[in-house]
Amino acid sequence: MTVTLGDYPLFIGGNWSSGISDKRFDIVNPATEEVVATVPNAVPEDMHMAIEAAVIAQTEWGNSVASYRAQILARAAHLMRERVEKLAEVMTLEEGKPLADARGEVLYAASFLEWFGEEAKRIYGDMIPANTPEKRIVVIKRPVGVTAAITPWNFPAAMITRKVGPALAAGCTMIIKPSELTPLSALEIAKIFEEAELPKGVLSVVVGNDASALAKVVMDDMRVRKISFTGSTEVGKILMRQAADTMKRVSLELGGHAPFIVFDDANIDDAVEQAVICKMRGMGETCVSANRFYVQQGIVEAFTEKMATRMGQMRVGNGLDAGISVGPLIEPAAVDKVDRHVQDAVDQGATLISGGKRHSEPRGYFYEPTVLANVTESMLVMNEETFGPVAAITPFTDEDEVIERANHSPFGLAAYYFTRDIGRVFRLAERLEYGIIGVNDGMPSTAQAPFGGVKLSGIGREGSKYGLEEYLDIKYISLGGILK
Ligand code: ADP
Repeated sequence: MTVTLGDYPLFIGGNWSSGISDKRFDIVNPATEEVVATVPNAVPEDMHMAIEAAVIAQTEWGNSVASYRAQILARAAHLMRERVEKLAEVMTLEEGKPLADARGEVLYAASFLEWFGEEAKRIYGDMIPANTPEKRIVVIKRPVGVTAAITPWNFPAAMITRKVGPALAAGCTMIIKPSELTPLSALEIAKIFEEAELPKGVLSVVVGNDASALAKVVMDDMRVRKISFTGSTEVGKILMRQAADTMKRVSLELGGHAPFIVFDDANIDDAVEQAVICKMRGMGETCVSANRFYVQQGIVEAFTEKMATRMGQMRVGNGLDAGISVGPLIEPAAVDKVDRHVQDAVDQGATLISGGKRHSEPRGYFYEPTVLANVTESMLVMNEETFGPVAAITPFTDEDEVIERANHSPFGLAAYYFTRDIGRVFRLAERLEYGIIGVNDGMPSTAQAPFGGVKLSGIGREGSKYGLEEYLDIKYISLGGILK
């Protein structure tokens, strides 16, 4: 059955617009290869308009009281939850993830709006003791001003609200440039904010398929004071370089290459369950997906067997169909990359335990859930983010060895390990060079916790009070003449 969502407009300065160029482009369902909607193809002039509107809106929004901003965010969160079915369907159609996962993402996305709305009321300052009786030292927090977000396709709603939530809570305006592959969820979120009575201009959604041209407008404009980006390390580096000229603040959430370590004292069934969740969430297309499985020698065979059984039970297909737990990958190039990693591993001597090929669906970008054993460090799968449903398993002997192997990566986003030894829990937490550590936990992400990485995985944190600070400037007020 062909499902179409029609023609979406852009949301610029609080108005729905067909864009200056009048050109449109197609959004393709990765499960069926059919066009599900069209969107206007914004040009730099559209982006200029969004920035103008944000600059105008910034003064009043930045000076508004926190409880007002909190109310709007709460309303938006409520509307998102009310509309979970519709939003989930849009997401499945544009991105492919199964409907149940899409529902989960919509609720997760709403949680950022709710949590940051509540947190808006707790943007506190400081009083610092001065050196003389005539003076007082006061520290206040102010919104950084106009901000921009560039977001990826793998979480079409949550990667937006994780940025919009803290921006609006802090009193910043924001322009979103969503991925050209999944802009529909972003535009649905704009509709929600319009209904939540967000003042015009505070939020814009500019969609276009020339990402670098649109981003350039933002990066060159001195009035935009911050850029928050989630995506590839390659683009993150470009943006960081571009940010230098206007000294914008940057938050970069980039690639990962997560190790997933299982010690022989772990509860193996629990480790397998968490491994499947961690590996297969979003078909393995997340930056915190487990990419390298290090399993201690004595349990590696049992773990591999259980993992293959669980992965083999997952049904692959169109995410709108009942009982499907693995959808398509985002585009043909993603399937090619996964296949290249698998072929390279097999060519270099890995054992293919299950899967290992494109799925037999007549259309769509599907790949079978795959388990590889006897993987070695020289294989592509151990050195590059696979971004697909492949569990590459390798044995290890002891703790020092596995720490060294796990840290041997330019990335440092998430690491996971399973053990019941409390000393080891702390030793690894401190020695693994990663921003997020899951101990006996394959899915640590949540609105109130700091998400972000070290090394090539990026700069800054999202979620939590630390994520809010990224949208706030510290202002020091030295107050004299107290005794006059
Ligand atoms: P992925 O490989 O996950 O698609 P990208 O980094 O290519 O990640 O894309 C993430 C976001 O960055 C998308 O919104 C995309 O349009 C945008 N993007 C891609 N290239 C550039 C660029 N040169 N400058 C700014 N944004 C870009």
